[in-house]
Amino acid sequence: MPSKESRYEVIIGIEVHVQLNTLSKMFCRCEVDVDARPNTKVCPICLGLPGALPQTNDTAVKLGIKAALALGCKVNLESRWARKHYFSPDLPKGYQITQYDYPLATGGSLDLPGMKRSVRIRRLHLEEDAGKLIHSSRETLVDFNRCGVPLAEIVSEPDIASALQADAYLKELRLILRTLGVSDAEMERGHFRCEPNISVRPRGQEEMGVRSEIKNLNSFKAVREGVERAVEDQIAWLEQGKEIVQTTYLWDEKARELRPMRVKETAADYRYFPEPDLPPLILEQSEIDEIKESLPELPAAKRKRLFKEGLSKQDIQVLSQEPEWEDYFLNLLEKGATVKEASTWLLNEARGIMAERREGLEEFKVPVEEMVNLIMLLRSGELTRPAAKGLLEAMAEKGRGAKELMTRMDLGAVSDSGFLEKVARKIIDANPEPVQRYRNGKTGVIGFLVGQCMKELRGKADPNAVREALSTLIAKED
Ligand SMILES: [Zn+2]
Repeated sequence: MPSKESRYEVIIGIEVHVQLNTLSKMFCRCEVDVDARPNTKVCPICLGLPGALPQTNDTAVKLGIKAALALGCKVNLESRWARKHYFSPDLPKGYQITQYDYPLATGGSLDLPGMKRSVRIRRLHLEEDAGKLIHSSRETLVDFNRCGVPLAEIVSEPDIASALQADAYLKELRLILRTLGVSDAEMERGHFRCEPNISVRPRGQEEMGVRSEIKNLNSFKAVREGVERAVEDQIAWLEQGKEIVQTTYLWDEKARELRPMRVKETAADYRYFPEPDLPPLILEQSEIDEIKESLPELPAAKRKRLFKEGLSKQDIQVLSQEPEWEDYFLNLLEKGATVKEASTWLLNEARGIMAERREGLEEFKVPVEEMVNLIMLLRSGELTRPAAKGLLEAMAEKGRGAKELMTRMDLGAVSDSGFLEKVARKIIDANPEPVQRYRNGKTGVIGFLVGQCMKELRGKADPNAVREALSTLIAKED
């Protein structure tokens, strides 16, 4: 019998509110600084005082277009502003200016890395944020500094089938927005707020299940756990034959429970109507094309390129999940390391050293420039591979430069051919039996002799040069 989970199909769509990287607010000149002293970054416009007229922030519009294009959306030449009404103490106007039936952009898609799944993007629209309530045990205070901060809302189609895919979708979306510079997308600061809606239906059923929506999730962990919980709850209710009511929940991270917040409003509850104080947002195609031209290389294209250049899938996975590692890695390439060198020395050797020292990349004492110096010493033959390993360990320990430590530790490779020959001579004399075997055609024995020489040289020579010296000497004696 199939398991309970496999008899049901999970369908997830996600809305994300992204704070756009602008200096001023969406419809006024107030500075965006939500950490400023409460209620100091406000004006009649963002407080919605009578007679105040909003004006659209062009930078916010450009950032919205950038994000839309990167997601493969069609940017509409005309979009319109609307008022969305609801009551909340942090919303002094009593409505939020947003886009409703004429959004900035529609119809894109995002491929989940390594998952063979594409999630369609329904729309991307611009809007303004509300203020913030600050609760204490005795009172609730309100800070309007965040009122009117520009947001993009990105709405996916319900193409996501598990918590794991939701996680992958959000990570990729966040990475794209950060690559574009559209948003810092710092989750713990509320710059990237996720609202998944989840429904479950018996496999094979045409009709969609009833949705549970989770509000304002600010970490990937909260999304994963919240979605998993919603799926479990819904399956349990379906098994019990209970009726499911469309509900909006808050995720209680400590109790690991979904707390019902309200039975979901419908669009009619918001009494949307056209914003009378703002003209439609009209764009020129040339303006959109220009932004499209200026887009940087996007994460998916970058991964494809690195794979073509020889980086393994596992390495690509590491880099795509850890932006600071990716930064370091790309910096190495920029400063002249090859993909193979960067992968060996950063993702393999340095990562191993950090694991041993129980350090993260932020504590790692080797800056990109010094890592490149080490790679270049190795490339020029001034340093051998085993010596380079020791040198990197010392650099991580002492935080000093590659050249300085190489000299001080006397790790430079022996390249003096006279000296190499002397060592080769000594090893040949000390090992007559292997040498004889080599002469009899067992050429593999040379590896042993090279090893003996390297030991004598404390690893400080190029093994190829040593091999060369050995075979020349033996040949001479024939
Ligand atoms: Zn203002």
